[in-house]
Amino acid sequence: SCHKADDRIRMRMSDLAGITSEQRAQLLKRPVLKSDEMIAKVKPIVDDVRARGDAALLELTAKFDKAQLTSAVVFPPFAPETMQIDPDVQAAIDQAYLNIRKFHEAQVAQDALVVETMPGVVCSRFARPIGRVGLYVPGGTAILPSTALMLGIPAQVAGCKEIVLATPPRPDGSISPEVMYVAHRVGASAVLKAGGAQAVAAMAYGTETVPKVDKIFGPGNQWVTAAKMLVQNDTDALVSIDMPAGPSEVLVIADHTANPAFVAADLLSQAEHGVDSQVVLVAVSLTPEKLAEIEQEVDAQAHALSRVDIVRQSIPKSIVVKASSAQEAIAFSNDYAPEHLILHLENAPKHVASVENAGSVFVGPFTPESCGDYASGTNHTLPTNGYARQFSGVNTLSFQKHITSQQITPEGLKKLGPVVATLADCEGLQAHANAVRIRLRANE
Ligand code: NAD
Repeated sequence: SCHKADDRIRMRMSDLAGITSEQRAQLLKRPVLKSDEMIAKVKPIVDDVRARGDAALLELTAKFDKAQLTSAVVFPPFAPETMQIDPDVQAAIDQAYLNIRKFHEAQVAQDALVVETMPGVVCSRFARPIGRVGLYVPGGTAILPSTALMLGIPAQVAGCKEIVLATPPRPDGSISPEVMYVAHRVGASAVLKAGGAQAVAAMAYGTETVPKVDKIFGPGNQWVTAAKMLVQNDTDALVSIDMPAGPSEVLVIADHTANPAFVAADLLSQAEHGVDSQVVLVAVSLTPEKLAEIEQEVDAQAHALSRVDIVRQSIPKSIVVKASSAQEAIAFSNDYAPEHLILHLENAPKHVASVENAGSVFVGPFTPESCGDYASGTNHTLPTNGYARQFSGVNTLSFQKHITSQQITPEGLKKLGPVVATLADCEGLQAHANAVRIRLRANE
């Protein structure tokens, strides 16, 4: 190795054996998100776009993205020259599209659910697409056609009528052709050239040119996240969001069967996302030699990365937690509720049954997280910050809602009516009881 010993990139070490419950709770913690502070900062931007529409949107885009636009929205058909991409990249996007589409099409709610709860009382439930959706594709520091695929495909297969894809423009006013190509593939009805809080506000309220949407999806930096939280709480906007978002995370569980180079590569693929990436390795009864091998691999592979400066900050914040069994490791992971869980375990598939809280699970040595990030078929927009306890990742149902319905025959009402009238009397809601009794009398 060609770097100095004091330049080593290494994780912090902890042992589950003999730690106090306070110390354990500390290990499960994420960095504090200052959401109140950020919401106060984005409010003037959101209010400005709401009040002044396109004029504000264009000014903010000039200020934050250095792009001078005369119009913020592009409608299809998109000009072919705006989607010209390398044939190899196009082939890769096309294959990813097929896999993600295949998996998300299988999730489309099938035929209506119909149940006769009592003779003559038929209840049903059926899905309908959310009419208008807004997809935020981050674009500040990297181009992310993969995020456009992960949000656009479920919207498309769910049957959303209006799909607005927002992403910050480059200083020359253009959008990366890869993202434009995906916008075309997923049938976007508009591309909004704007980023940050201003893009979220434009989609939440609509402007002269930007269509208003009913639900906003997608990851982004703290400006985007805070704006989503703000508009979600405004009843005038009448808009919902996919889920709360925080920095990306991985928890890797490795035992004696794990390949140290694979484990290190998986840890680093998360660490390169950003300086606030959360990386946890749970080491199951590893010998000191094996652990040292993993550490050496992390250090050596890190120094060879183009994003080594990001990794230099994220890896030292990461932790290695020693566990004495796979069960103890999974129990720790369930308490942590990671966005991504990678199992480098002997008989990895058998441990999946014990997973209670995780966004997406990567099973066995040949299943790197990267495959789920891009192209296996699963979605990469997943709950972070411990929200995997109660949230699912983005999926086809995220773009639909369910309507229930009931139909009752005169005979059905004869049986059900007295039950309802009794409960209505009990709650003192006389008009409710009347609505039943007036019909029962008419049927006599
Ligand atoms: P971004 O598109 O989220 O944000 C860029 C926008 O931020 C700009 O257009 C600007 O409007 C706004 N902005 C920046 N500085 C501002 C300021 N001082 N005041 C007001 N607005 C400001 O792109 P990004 O910044 O590169 O962030 C991308 C984020 O998305 C990262 O945090 C990354 O981790 C996350 N991400 C997550 C996933 C996932 O699935 N979890 C996937 C991809 C990206």
